Amino acid sequence: MNAILLGPPGAGKGTQAERLCRSEALLHLSTGDLLRAAVAQGTDLGREATAFLDRGALVPDALVLALLEQPLAGRAAGEGFLLDGFPRNVSQAKALDEVLGEDALDHVIHLQLDDEEILRRLLERGRPDDSEEVVRNRLVVYRAETEPLVRYYADRGLLRAVDARGSIDEVEERVHSAIGAASGPVRA
Ligand code: AMP
Repeated sequence: MNAILLGPPGAGKGTQAERLCRSEALLHLSTGDLLRAAVAQGTDLGREATAFLDRGALVPDALVLALLEQPLAGRAAGEGFLLDGFPRNVSQAKALDEVLGEDALDHVIHLQLDDEEILRRLLERGRPDDSEEVVRNRLVVYRAETEPLVRYYADRGLLRAVDARGSIDEVEERVHSAIGAASGPVRA
């Protein structure tokens, strides 16, 4: 199974991705984690990405695609993957289609959460890019750049909506039934 985890910052993508990858034996590819690792290692790419991360802006597509190239190409035969935090805009989604072919994806899991809850969770989390100003900017960027992907993937019949409120276990439960239900009849 190959899937994408889509949702606003603070919706629990990282946590749910870890659980889903463990239970389904998927390769977890988080562009946020890969970028933070590149920054920590002080690579050229990491240095280029820092200013964008600090502002809560999207890192240029070319940098993110370069980061994903090796792990995607190097996955074991038959190993499924879960993309977490990628694609973040329509042009990344198109680039992904080119790399993988249009039929490669099975599910796009959409974690849904309202702005008030997003802000509450992120300000609690306290990552360096979680100051109120940066969080607000990440949210604006999400609505403008990333949310159009909901329609993009819904049109292809890949979207699985999941309510991201409640406990980690509750959301995990919903994620499982959303991808299970996907193999049944398509509902309106
Ligand atoms: P995340 O860990 O997914 O919340 O991402 C943290 C930050 O990394 C974002 O605010 C962006 O600056 C950057 N980032 C992560 N994934 C992408 C991506 N696919 N495209 C561009 N920037 C990204």
